[in-house]
Amino acid sequence: MNKIIIKFLTISIVLTILVTLVITYNFKQNNKELAIHNANVVSNVIKNGITNYMENDNMKDIDSFLDSIKDMKDVNSLWIVRSELINKQYSTFNEKSPRDDIDKEVLQTGVTKYEVSNSLFDTTMRITIPYKADDTNGSNCLSCHNVQKGDVLGAISLEMDLSKIEELSINIFLTALVLIFLSAVLILLIFRKVLTQYSRLFKNLTESLDSAIAGNFKKVEYPIDLTPQMVTTMDNFNSLLTTFKDTSNDIDKKLKVFIGNSSSEDESKISILKDSKKIITNLSNLYQFKKEIELDSSKDEIYNRLSQVLINQFNQKNFTFVEIDSSKQKMEVIKKIGEGFYCESSLKDSPHLCRAARTKNDVMSLEFHNSCPYFNEKNKFHFCVPTSISKNIYLIINFVFDNEKELEKLKSNISFIKSYINESAPSIEVKILMEALKQSAFRDGLTGLYNRKFLEEHSKKLIPQANRENFDIGVLLLDMDHFKAVNDEYGHDIGDKVLKELSRILVETVRDSDIVVRYGGEEFMVLLINVKSLDNALEIANKIRVKVSQNDIDVYAGAKLRKTVSIGVSMFPNDSTNFESVIKNADIALYEAKNKGRNQVIAFNEDLVSSVDLF
Ligand code: GH3
Ligand code: MG
Ligand code: MG
Repeated sequence: MNKIIIKFLTISIVLTILVTLVITYNFKQNNKELAIHNANVVSNVIKNGITNYMENDNMKDIDSFLDSIKDMKDVNSLWIVRSELINKQYSTFNEKSPRDDIDKEVLQTGVTKYEVSNSLFDTTMRITIPYKADDTNGSNCLSCHNVQKGDVLGAISLEMDLSKIEELSINIFLTALVLIFLSAVLILLIFRKVLTQYSRLFKNLTESLDSAIAGNFKKVEYPIDLTPQMVTTMDNFNSLLTTFKDTSNDIDKKLKVFIGNSSSEDESKISILKDSKKIITNLSNLYQFKKEIELDSSKDEIYNRLSQVLINQFNQKNFTFVEIDSSKQKMEVIKKIGEGFYCESSLKDSPHLCRAARTKNDVMSLEFHNSCPYFNEKNKFHFCVPTSISKNIYLIINFVFDNEKELEKLKSNISFIKSYINESAPSIEVKILMEALKQSAFRDGLTGLYNRKFLEEHSKKLIPQANRENFDIGVLLLDMDHFKAVNDEYGHDIGDKVLKELSRILVETVRDSDIVVRYGGEEFMVLLINVKSLDNALEIANKIRVKVSQNDIDVYAGAKLRKTVSIGVSMFPNDSTNFESVIKNADIALYEAKNKGRNQVIAFNEDLVSSVDLF
């Protein structure tokens, strides 16, 4: 503001001086021309006066005439000189020789000459006008003088005082200076008043815009004495601001419904706009993510995609996905990115200890470093996010950080991260259910063992693998001896119990890598994968047979039941390279075991084929 005024003042002063100088110069020029004109008039009067006196032969009055002119105001001096031509003609008459070079020059050239001279206090103008032989003004010089027309007869010189004019110029200069300066000051005062209003308005406008950018929408206060046009503009600006504020708040509120409340440090300081932009970007990414996971074919693909989002969008380097099944007390590490999952050893067999899964709340080492006692890495920080996938299954994402700052950063983004996890949860649940459904189709409902359908499907992969890797498979086909009698005597429930007991013994006796199948009603099959030899297979079969025969089954009122099994054994690929034939061979051996009196193990051999008496 002050700068503008100083600039304005400087320009005004310079302009004032320039304008005054121009006016004064013009004035002086005009005055000089006026003085010349006056001098010309005076000299013409003299010229005509002298001519008249000469024509009337009244020469003696010329001097008094000239003296009367000399007495005129501002005429300092006046003299007349004659040319050589006249001097020659009237050598006796009052000789008037040229006084100086100017006189001589004018007599010679016949051209009027002016000269202005300035001293400290005075300004004078000297003018010398030629007197030429002429008959145009009614006079006839040629009649008296022995000259040609146009010859210079003499010259009249006048010295006039121009000091008054000079004085007048200075006065005009000073008056113009004062007037212009006063006008400039007046303009400045008016300008300053208007400028102060607008500068205040501009300041308020800037403040309002700054705080709007910072997320705080404040109306602009404006002075009441603005022009109506400006008042309308400011009212429009304020109404725009209000609309913008309401709309932004509305957008923000609605967006937060999608994404959850941001846990940023100080929300008041964060621009709603910036926040909304961040939310919209994340929503758009989230929408893309959701579309992608809908096309994913397995749970693993979804977890892979989720981990890619955490790595690429949220810069996470160390995290682990853990699934906890609360109904089975089972914990499974699904995916591990980075260096480690530090509570695995504590939770492996006791997943119920996981604080995040138990409390269903986020657990982090922020206020209390060991808020979770099982996170046993003192120099690191953790953030565990539990998400319910289905009734019993929880996904825990365990993030690990080297410092608190990284943890804080994740915390500020956690609402976005959770929106990705929450979007994934239903798809993960669908994949888990589909997997379970697939599993149930391959499982026997009573014993939980694989069923015959599974055997058919699995053998399609298993046999080529055995051929490729060159390992043997021992096939044991088991049938409960006189099982019908159990049903008949104790009822089907006890019959079912006996079947379950047999299943348990089978699972417990063979290796995890072996496959136990309920083949039919009370018929079971065990596939001994990569068994060393037939002897080895027979050994295992006998182990089963003995265990079953020694197993007491509670029936009712303290009564116990013992059952036996008959087992037929065949070897793949020794007995046949066709797996179905191997099963058939095991069945032949089983038949033989039954024939031989039951509770025994019989290995298949070719001789049995011919001796089998099917009926
Ligand atoms: P064998 O020693 O010759 O094998 O005599 P068995 O009585 O075991 O022979 P059989 O094949 O005639 O009897 C099998 C019986 O098993 C018939 C059927 O009622 C019974 N059974 C099949 N599936 C089940 C089941 O799921 N539960 C119960 N309780 N019984 C079943
Ligand atoms: Mg049977
Ligand atoms: Mg039977």
